[in-house]
Amino acid sequence: MRLPFVAAPGWWAGAKCRLERIEVAHFFTREESQEARKVCADCLVRYRCLTEHLDEPFGVWGGHTRDERNKVQSAMDRGTTLKDASRAIDARRRTG
Ligand code: SF4
Repeated sequence: MRLPFVAAPGWWAGAKCRLERIEVAHFFTREESQEARKVCADCLVRYRCLTEHLDEPFGVWGGHTRDERNKVQSAMDRGTTLKDASRAIDARRRTG
């Protein structure tokens, strides 16, 4: 989904989805989620985005779906950093 360009304050100003005008958070199907992850993969504010959207009920944020964000939160509850938890999920996805 492509949206009109809008001004954004703070950290989100550097968001790849914003700069490319792609609303990845509104991608819901498995195929759409995979496409969204590709956008998020090299986003400069990915981990900040994930931090800010861990509790979002829908869509892809910080490169992760709702289920993955729940796993990130569970790992953080066990003492893992957000970045390490996110990377572990990415690695598991790559290896199947
Ligand atoms: S990590 Fe967040 S800010 Fe970056 S492209 Fe993905 S949804 Fe957008």
